[in-house]
Parts: sequence; structure tokens; C-alpha cells
Amino acid sequence: MKNTIEGSDGIAAERTASELCLACGLCCQGALHSRAALKPDETEVALRNGMTLTVLDDGSPGFDQPCPCHQSGACSIYGSTRPRVCSDYKCRLLKQYLRGEITLVMGLEIVARTKRLIEAVRAGLEGFMEPPTRSLNNRMISFLKSRGPASSHETRSDLPGRLLSICSLQVLFKKHFYEPVSEVAKPGPEPRGHGG
Ligand code: SF4
Ligand code: SF4
Repeated sequence: MKNTIEGSDGIAAERTASELCLACGLCCQGALHSRAALKPDETEVALRNGMTLTVLDDGSPGFDQPCPCHQSGACSIYGSTRPRVCSDYKCRLLKQYLRGEITLVMGLEIVARTKRLIEAVRAGLEGFMEPPTRSLNNRMISFLKSRGPASSHETRSDLPGRLLSICSLQVLFKKHFYEPVSEVAKPGPEPRGHGG
């Protein structure tokens, strides 16, 4: 998700913020969140954009992640009909970057490290909760709830490794992406924010 920065070095700052988000996209891909909120007047457009509508815990409308509009590493409806939650949302990492607390290089390194761990988690969850297009966040929560493999062809032999990957990823999410008030994804309530 792209965000702009207002400031003394506006143009350069906007470019680098885009670089961070374009290299990331985790808030659009179902990794950080399973769902995102919609305003009631946004549901028709969301449907036309191919989103799957859902109802959030508070009864308000939302759409499932991963978002079908995230294509080739970018938002295909950026600047046109993307939901307001998308233009409003800034993860912790982006906020830290915008406040000058981390450099772009540091931010990109954290994103790259997180993506490597995501791939490890994806590999570990292969075969769990098909189709694999469901949000990774949702699959991780379900895996933790199930405390292990759900289908007969799976074995528990590599369970510690898989649990370790998931827990390490959750630590990264909590440290760098979720806001302090958010809850780390775990059996129970999902993180608030973009995921609703
Ligand atoms: S998770 Fe943060 S850094 Fe990544 S795309 Fe979303 S707002 Fe940008
Ligand atoms: S519309 Fe989809 S791809 Fe675009 S910013 Fe929102 S979640 Fe991301």
C-alpha cells in the first residue's frame, strides 16, 4: 500500500515511501491481515473490483485478503477506487520510516527478512487449509488453533519447525508492523487496523 509524505523534502520523501511499500505489499497480500474494512458506500465498487465481501466482527462490511487488486506487486486501482481504509492505513514500519526513525535501507531489510520468513511459513503450511489462496494470516491462526496437521497425509514430525516459523513471523509482525494496541495474530481475535 502506498502512502505519501508531507514535508520539507516532499517529492523525494514521497518517492522513497512508495519504494518501501512497493517492495512490501504485506498489508494487501493477506499476510498481516485476513480482512480489511469497507465503508457501506464502498461495497458495490469493491465487488466490481473483484473483492470478496465479508462481515467484520462488529457487523460492518469488509473484504477478504489477499486483495485481488494487488497485481504485479502494486495496487491496480491505486488513485481510483481503492477503499478509504487503504489510503488511510500505515503500518508501524511505515510510520517509523515517515518519522525518520529508520532509514529506507533498514525498512527494506526488515521487509526482505519478513518475506523470507513468510515463504518458510507458506512452505510449512503447504497442504493445510486448501485452497492456499486463503489469507496466510487466517491459515496461521487456524494452524495454531489446530495445534498441528489437520489431514491424514501430514505428519507431526516437522511440527516444531513449523510452529517455530509461525511464531517467529508473528514476532516480526508484532515488532515491526502491528501497532502496539494490536493483538498478535493468535487463536482468538485478529489484529485490528487494516484487517478489521
Ligand atoms: S505493510 Fe506497511 S510498509 Fe508494507 S505495504 Fe503496507 S503500509 Fe507499506
Ligand atoms: S485495494 Fe487492495 S491492493 Fe489496493 S491498496 Fe487496498 S488492499 Fe492493497
